[in-house]
Amino acid sequence: VYQLIANPVSRNDEIVGMLLLVLDVTEKERWDSLRREFTANVSHELKTPLTSISGYAEMMKEGLVPAEDMGEMAERIYHEARRLMALVGDVIELSRLDAGGAGQEMEILDLAALAAQVAEPLSASAQKREISIKLETEPVTVRGIPRVLEEMIYNLCDNAVKYNKQGGSVLIQVRRIGKGARLVVEDTGIGIPFEDQERVFERFYRVDKSHSREMGGTGLGLSIVKHGAMIHNARLRLDSEPGKGTRIQVDFPFV
Ligand code: ADP
Repeated sequence: VYQLIANPVSRNDEIVGMLLLVLDVTEKERWDSLRREFTANVSHELKTPLTSISGYAEMMKEGLVPAEDMGEMAERIYHEARRLMALVGDVIELSRLDAGGAGQEMEILDLAALAAQVAEPLSASAQKREISIKLETEPVTVRGIPRVLEEMIYNLCDNAVKYNKQGGSVLIQVRRIGKGARLVVEDTGIGIPFEDQERVFERFYRVDKSHSREMGGTGLGLSIVKHGAMIHNARLRLDSEPGKGTRIQVDFPFV
């Protein structure tokens, strides 16, 4: 896509020439269209839980909900509200990352300690479905933005639990590799169909929308991981086999 700009050049009120500028705006057009699509998606994703919440609240207000169903209704409102909060949080995170992690300082930190700290709160939801989480780490320093790294590790581990099977397992590994650091999150879950593997890092792309919703997903987790990896010059690799499990590897460069 090209844009043509024409500017007359005048000297002493007399037009002596024409300045023609041909700009290649292909990349800009692509970004503009991605941004429009993202805004439309966000609006749609915000509207769905909000419609449910106001619908449930209205039924309660009108006295249409029998006393014995009140608890369940409150539970549904709570679930939708949590989804909204997660979505708003992820959108804020992505816009920060779009600005290149602006205003956030890189620090030298231990990736293993961070992984242990992030994995800890996930054990409750894992236990409910008899999923075991195993940590295999050694201290390795990386240079990174702590909050972004936390967010990346959390999203990977959270997915490994969410898309796992009853009684499955999750392995979180942090180790030195060459002069850099390697983070691996591996699960024995449902896996990702081959044809979807490239697209799961796109914003709002989900293999099974209703399953993701049910598990409280936003469809933004892996795009945050991808963006975070870019900011840290880290390399991402996904291996997955449907029905068997998924392994995601993030290689951080030497500090
Ligand atoms: P979501 O909030 O839906 O989990 P993500 O961006 O984190 O969004 O992931 C995108 C999609 O990729 C998910 O909806 C799911 O279909 C698939 N996915 C991600 N991680 C895994 C995994 N560990 N096992 C199987 N499928 C996964």
